[in-house]
Amino acid sequence: DQISPRKPDWIRVRVAATSGFKETHGVLRSHGLHTVCEEAACPNVGECWAHKHATYMILGAICTRACAFCNVATGRPGAVDPQEPQRLAQSAVALGLRHVVITSVDRDDLPDGGAQQFVRCIEALRLAAPEMTIEVLTPDFRGKAGAADAVVTAAPDVFNHNLETVPRLYPTIRPGARYYHSLRLLDQAKVQNPAQFTKSGIMVGLGETRDEILAVMDDLRCAGVDFLTIGQYLQPTPKHVAVDRYVEPAEFDEFKRIALAKGFLVVASSPLTRSSYHADRDFVALRAA
Ligand code: SF4
Ligand code: SF4
Repeated sequence: DQISPRKPDWIRVRVAATSGFKETHGVLRSHGLHTVCEEAACPNVGECWAHKHATYMILGAICTRACAFCNVATGRPGAVDPQEPQRLAQSAVALGLRHVVITSVDRDDLPDGGAQQFVRCIEALRLAAPEMTIEVLTPDFRGKAGAADAVVTAAPDVFNHNLETVPRLYPTIRPGARYYHSLRLLDQAKVQNPAQFTKSGIMVGLGETRDEILAVMDDLRCAGVDFLTIGQYLQPTPKHVAVDRYVEPAEFDEFKRIALAKGFLVVASSPLTRSSYHADRDFVALRAA
């Protein structure tokens, strides 16, 4: 087992079973849908679900990869569910969402990496609720020809792909992925549709240096990425990689100031920031600005 340092006071997690939480839970269950909120044991689930903000995880709950930081189960996934896009759209309508966030497990077993299921979900949502904005958080599709293009062509409002960490730590933290491949994916999405917002995120506290974080910001701006999220890595279980350090809230604030100065349009940077944390609020605020 790997031992992390003791959690500081600023990492406080409250999960209160509010009526909003219960309603979100009930709608997701009755539609037979997975969320990354639950599968990744996200610390914000109490707060987000109270406001009916959840992140759908499509294509099953079993991932073909095993990243050292991630709580999602690894193994052989099941067949793609053709009814999933419809149920997802119905549940988003039932919850009255303004902004829908969809992610997936990695499906390296599928010829298109699962891209068409993202497309079908976007299409189902556009049909069911044309006024809803849609954010997708995609895998890297492992370079499968045309996969990312198909998702960009389906025109989600925000195309998100997380770099997760700095390039030096990829071999240990994200061994199934390549830093420059992920960066290229974001760059190509922007080139393909410059009107679409692109977004990425990293975790800190994995052993990266400040200079490495700033270099990732520069790489992302070179790839035309608009939105950035930075959050503290938390070790899901003792089997996962240990926390190297807890970054202080003031340092997160500093990252935010620097990132905005580098030209990101929206930056979320705090200990409990996750890729989809406040994504609904931030995006609605940006559009209103
Ligand atoms: Fe779900 Fe994202 Fe909120 Fe976490 S931050 S609970 S993953 S919506
Ligand atoms: Fe978790 Fe994504 Fe890595 Fe799969 S690819 S283990 S879902 S972070």
